[in-house]
Amino acid sequence: MASLSSNDSIVIVGAGIIGLNVALVLSERGYGQSIAVVAEHFPGDTSLNYTSPWAGCNFSAISGTDATALRWDRLGYDHLSRLASVRSEEAYVHWTPSIELWDEDVPRDKIQHMSEYLRDFRILPEAELPKGVKFAVSFTTLTVNAPEHIKYLHRRLQDQYGVRFVRKRLPSIQSAYASPSTKIVFNCTGIASGTLPGVEDPKCYPTRGQVVLVKAPHIQTNMMRHGADYETYVIPRPGSNGNVILGGYMQKRVSDGSTYAFEVESILARTRDLSLEIRQQEPELLGTFAGLRPSREGGARVERDEVVIDGQKCALVHNYGAGGTGFQAGYGMALESVAIVEDVLHQIQNSMPRANL
Ligand SMILES: Cc1cc2nc3c(=O)[nH]c(=O)nc-3n(C[C@H](O)[C@H](O)[C@H](O)COP(=O)(O)OP(=O)(O)OC[C@H]3O[C@@H](n4cnc5c(N)ncnc54)[C@H](O)[C@@H]3O)c2cc1C
Repeated sequence: MASLSSNDSIVIVGAGIIGLNVALVLSERGYGQSIAVVAEHFPGDTSLNYTSPWAGCNFSAISGTDATALRWDRLGYDHLSRLASVRSEEAYVHWTPSIELWDEDVPRDKIQHMSEYLRDFRILPEAELPKGVKFAVSFTTLTVNAPEHIKYLHRRLQDQYGVRFVRKRLPSIQSAYASPSTKIVFNCTGIASGTLPGVEDPKCYPTRGQVVLVKAPHIQTNMMRHGADYETYVIPRPGSNGNVILGGYMQKRVSDGSTYAFEVESILARTRDLSLEIRQQEPELLGTFAGLRPSREGGARVERDEVVIDGQKCALVHNYGAGGTGFQAGYGMALESVAIVEDVLHQIQNSMPRANL
């Protein structure tokens, strides 16, 4: 695989959904041939330190209630909607009917905001709610085949836009400025931002999830139940010949990559209770996985920073800490990471051959 070159004005560290979305936003604006994505893991790899392949994956009301999270979600829904409408098969993103249920603590303001853009949004009448449920909505969501979607982005970035991919584990964020021509580094290292020298953010922590992969082509509805101390979900996986992800767990500050049979039993019992489609026909068990969500106290960090390299001030943009929302909010986070370095992009644009723009 290639190494960093003198054309790499923009270096993105990390090839998870966050780094790939930053590369996509920049490529759509004509910077593809100026980008190198440097990462230890790429789409197709699996590791406990690489979260993206383990995502369920859907758009849901699971994210934070602050204005920033709401804005990123909306931008993410728009982006995934475009993919589902224009290149659904190729991108592994599908429109899917969805029902979300809350046992308590219904985030009303957030629901109000989401109702303004979610397709087919409806509040379910109380008489239709299962026992123990206080509030529920239905809408048309987007489901994503996470491991295939990141492979699609990788291919598209390389083939359509000429983005270069360099496999390397960096010893520090400063080492991403390997070439004097590097003007911006995007730090999209997910969970590693807690320990990577030059970042070492003490607010980062893992949130463990365990999921079960089943074969159940008859399951067509995405379902989520938000409890006080649990999350249960059923997510049909696009482009997988009828596979479905059943979950799950949200274990804060747990970094255990093992999977547990008792957790499989709990997931199967909870999802059977949640989904009529599961009760109608028992799914075939295919496997179980655990992944670590890159969580951060106070929410994700999308922020411009500066480092001094050989006496020169260089732009550094942090984009990490997406927790359980990297796929649904990632494109919105990428748009904002790019917007905060417009001045540097302008300099890069001025030094680019006209043919690249
Ligand atoms: C069970 C589960 C279910 C989930 N379901 C959903 C869902 O339904 N919807 C949703 O939106 N999200 C979901 N998520 C969350 C989502 O998966 C994450 O938010 C997202 O994957 C985070 O992406 P990332 O790019 O920040 O990190 P990662 O995917 O971990 O990527 C980090 C990248 O940085 C690289 N890196 C790190 N350190 C270095 C270094 N020193 N040198 C070079 N490279 C380095 C890694 O190799 C990797 O390429 C789920 C997660 C889990 C675990």
